[in-house]
Amino acid sequence: MVLYLGVVRHGLGMLSIRRAYLLSRCAHTSPQSLDYRPIKKVLVANRGEIAIRVFRACTELGIRTVAVYSEQDTGQMHRQKADEAYLIGKGLPPVAAYLHIPDIIKVAKENNVDAIHPGYGFLSERSDFAQACEDSGVRFIGPSPEVVHKMGDKVEARALAIKAGVPVVPGTDAPISSQQEAQEFAKTYGFPIIFKAAYGGGGRGMRVVREYEELEENYQRAYSEALAAFGNGALFVEKFIEKPRHIEVQILGDKYGNVIHLYERDCSIQRRHQKVVEVAPAAHLDPHLRDRLTSDSVKLAKQVGYENAGTVEFLVDKHGKHYFIEVNSRLQVEHTVTEEITDVDLVHAQIRVCEGQSLPELGLRQDKIKINGCAIQCRVTTEDPARGFQPDTGRIEVFRSAEGMGIRLDSASAFQGAVISPHYDSLLVKVISSGKDLPTAASKMLRALAEFRIRGVKTNIPFLQNVLGNNQFLHSTVDTQFIDENQDLFNLKPTQNRAQKLLHYLGHVMVNGPTTPIPVKAKPSTTDPVIPPVPLGEPPAGFREVLLKEGPEGFARAVRQHQGLLLMDTTFRDAHQSLLATRVRTHDLKKIAPYVAHNFSNLFSVENWGGATFDVAMRFLSECPWRRLQQLRKLLPNVPFQMLLRGANAVGYTNYPDNAVFKFCEVAKENGMDIFRVFDSPKLPT
Ligand code: ADP
Ligand code: ADP
Ligand code: MG
Repeated sequence: MVLYLGVVRHGLGMLSIRRAYLLSRCAHTSPQSLDYRPIKKVLVANRGEIAIRVFRACTELGIRTVAVYSEQDTGQMHRQKADEAYLIGKGLPPVAAYLHIPDIIKVAKENNVDAIHPGYGFLSERSDFAQACEDSGVRFIGPSPEVVHKMGDKVEARALAIKAGVPVVPGTDAPISSQQEAQEFAKTYGFPIIFKAAYGGGGRGMRVVREYEELEENYQRAYSEALAAFGNGALFVEKFIEKPRHIEVQILGDKYGNVIHLYERDCSIQRRHQKVVEVAPAAHLDPHLRDRLTSDSVKLAKQVGYENAGTVEFLVDKHGKHYFIEVNSRLQVEHTVTEEITDVDLVHAQIRVCEGQSLPELGLRQDKIKINGCAIQCRVTTEDPARGFQPDTGRIEVFRSAEGMGIRLDSASAFQGAVISPHYDSLLVKVISSGKDLPTAASKMLRALAEFRIRGVKTNIPFLQNVLGNNQFLHSTVDTQFIDENQDLFNLKPTQNRAQKLLHYLGHVMVNGPTTPIPVKAKPSTTDPVIPPVPLGEPPAGFREVLLKEGPEGFARAVRQHQGLLLMDTTFRDAHQSLLATRVRTHDLKKIAPYVAHNFSNLFSVENWGGATFDVAMRFLSECPWRRLQQLRKLLPNVPFQMLLRGANAVGYTNYPDNAVFKFCEVAKENGMDIFRVFDSPKLPT
């Protein structure tokens, strides 16, 4: 077995050859493991950034990629980033689509998929899914269904930890079935206690109880929350550890019983038990404690026969005592920071292990795994920190990215024009910074957060900036109550957003005209319009009388015999075609018509009807163009009306059949039209 140690320059830094990516095998050597079965095609049963993360790894390894997407995700980027993409869960709600095991297996079988990567969330910790994959002959990139099952049940995982000699938080050995059991527990261990969902995740279904009086209410709430979120209300009780650090260990196992760890991540910066910022390695961690955390993790993983990537989570109390809390048997959102400090591509490793390669074959020996510098991950979400982190949705109008040395971005919807829907979680982009130590990585992160310009949806960036700029975070250690206890993190610096405001203003003026008063002291002059008098009685006879009495031919003759110049007045037409279009209504035209009838009776015609009439009357004024014609006809009986007819287009913008145009002219004449000026006839001869 030949090992290829690819040395990749990172960024443009001169001295940054520290990233030595361990690539699993050379193109021409094949692994020696007996169970080795190469993977040629991977389906990712997930969406968004994690689907894309896995596709990237597959493509790097020369593996073909398959995406699945829900109806609500038709326009999502993960669909574009795969070699093939298939719709699943037709007719189902957005989340249910990604939980539809039969559809996913069907897509895999029909398209010769060798293995399924579950990402995180959705089906990633469902043993029935791992089992369904196995039953259909598709490999599940993760631990065996039995291990997924054991780890998915927090109570069972605790029992296994106890068996492996790993310290756990004092807690109940089994799910409790009444609040009396919780009372018993509190009597023995004292308050505060915490209710936790046995099948929980993502910080949901958890309730802290500080005194006896709060017990009943919190029991009920935790139960119904767990039932709603996980379909199972089973709760267990733990002693609540005050102000702990959340430190977790990344592990990797293979099919042959080898397990290594890739050191720890500190995920203490949490809001409502959910991680917001993650750091690797944990700052100021006592090396002995680090040894205990990592060796306990490996011990537990070996004991259960853990294969593939996983995370063992611990709480560390103020005295440096550590307690196991759970195992996440999947890739985690924050796996990126471990990759940055160890230079191990965890998704590559997951796929290779699933193919049947051993960790030593992959060059993944414990003594080779070293911590290199520091990495921080910020979860940039489309949540408004000024409104209790309420998720925001809409179209991203402006997106300018942060880039440059030391910044890695993992995202799916981070681009101009992306539509953020309310259907899924609000993670927009994971920003990962790395540097030689925490202050360097933090300065890069702060710079990157300031470099982003995201408009159209609110993000939590102003809040993250406060966290990253916080002295305690930068120079000491933080615990899981950090956010709750630092209200100044919520003093958010508002963005001025000047360019966007200017664009809105200009757009508004262009469409609606200026609404501000004239910016000079001079007042607009008062106008006193002269309204011409309209004589009483019938208007004098005009050319229309000739038309009515002698018909078209007699009218034509009269025109030819006329000695002087004949005028056609377009004022009525222009009134509704010009900028005044939407201001001149039938109401106004009617007021002018009698004056025209009396004073311009010698006009050849008045042009007052046509395509623009239909457009303006129907689209803007909500008026009937036919009624306008009838009413003007009554008030202006003596002068012929003329209309502009766009040949086969009549008064529309498309070709109509001849009979429609003829019928239109017939009806127009009945309603008062006299002369049709045929303007342009784009219809080709048939
Ligand atoms: P989840 O499955 O939601 O990730 P965890 O058991 O990992 O649940 O706990 C998530 C977070 O909740 C922890 O990081 C910690 O902040 C808090 N927490 C959980 N158990 C305890 C405990 N016994 N004492 C104090 N905090 C706890
Ligand atoms: P402010 O400092 O007012 O909060 P920003 O930081 O958003 O403004 O923007 C600073 C600069 O970014 C602006 O001067 C402009 O050059 C650019 N900018 C911001 N928004 C947009 C936009 N919608 N389109 C193009 N450029 C923009
Ligand atoms: Mg957890």
